[in-house]
Amino acid sequence: MSVPPHPAARRATSMPRSAIREIMTLAAGRPEVIHLEVGDPDLDTPTHVSAALGAAALSGATHYAPNAGLAGLRTAIAARVASRTGQPVAAERIVVTAGAVNALFASLLAVLDPGDEVLLPDPGWPNYESIAHLAGATCRHYPMPAARGFLPDVAEIRALVGPRTRALLLNTPGNPTGAVFPAPLMAAIAALAQETGLHLVSDEIYEDIVFEGTHASIGAYDVADRSFLISGFSKSYAMTGWRLGWVVCPPGLAPVVAGLLEPVISCAPTMVQMAGEAALAGPQESVAEMAALFRRRRDVVAEVLGQSPLLPVLPHGAFYAFLDIGGSGLGSLDFARAALAETAVAVVPGISFGPASDRFVRVALTVPEATLREGLARLKGMVERRAAG
Ligand code: PMP
Repeated sequence: MSVPPHPAARRATSMPRSAIREIMTLAAGRPEVIHLEVGDPDLDTPTHVSAALGAAALSGATHYAPNAGLAGLRTAIAARVASRTGQPVAAERIVVTAGAVNALFASLLAVLDPGDEVLLPDPGWPNYESIAHLAGATCRHYPMPAARGFLPDVAEIRALVGPRTRALLLNTPGNPTGAVFPAPLMAAIAALAQETGLHLVSDEIYEDIVFEGTHASIGAYDVADRSFLISGFSKSYAMTGWRLGWVVCPPGLAPVVAGLLEPVISCAPTMVQMAGEAALAGPQESVAEMAALFRRRRDVVAEVLGQSPLLPVLPHGAFYAFLDIGGSGLGSLDFARAALAETAVAVVPGISFGPASDRFVRVALTVPEATLREGLARLKGMVERRAAG
């Protein structure tokens, strides 16, 4: 008797997925393509970190770690966060995770019940919505329009808060826009959380990549202890493949977040955590060098597109630019397909980042300057040709 195939579960198959996959599939096997879609830096992890991994493996760090992470790493992270925010942070509030994405997953699941609402940025990183979906929560988007420098308005966020709203997600410096929230905005958001009882989930994974101004962390303003402050090693130390991040939890919630890791990953890999300790304790020059490299590439974007409507807002941080392709007359998915077909440049359609972002595409500054210059010039030419014709 043959057994009919069982369909995959609805929650799994209905999870929203980013349109970036389609573009990557179309670009695969075409060596001439300029890849501006990939958000993974073209940099190597500092060698002393890799050496620490080898040493940890050989010294027997091959067993499980506690759910919340190794005590030494939690202490080092707490010290780093305290020195940056100016606020004392107890190591007990830190949970070490498999990348910031795992920290976002556990933090959102710690505060969202099915039917609850979470406020997400538009434009914003698509994984926020996928996680909310898996939590059974409803997403509402708060706008961050180009006309406002891709920043949110606190009154607009407040107007979206209803009886089921539990959490507000923030991302600064931001993917896909490179917008950096100024300190007064962070203070106003912290005050909103205090007033409304919302939890803040602050994704600060790009905290070390800021070109103008300084990074304002929610940890410096959250007097009400409502925030989950999330960051990690992927961007600061070029460690995307290592899968190591952390969350600073509101007091009392770290055991809940750590408990949520048990059935998913149990703990971040022990030897990777030890290498993470080495990254935090070792020389930090590579961090500033990395930020300087992205700044030079950001300046290339300004040079090539600065005078054109494609660049309504200069990115102040992270390693992306969000380009206004409205002049082409195409929606963002059609534009991305056409850009690949006609100019051999791969970009991410803005619609992947939220319903209000369809006149934009994201480019990542993760290729050498000359390649970036060429890719941007082709995109500009394409918009101009379409606008003229
Ligand atoms: N948040 C944002 C905004 C990101 O862009 C990324 C990576 N692309 C992450 C989180 C995930 O970082 P990690 O590698 O630490 O999981």
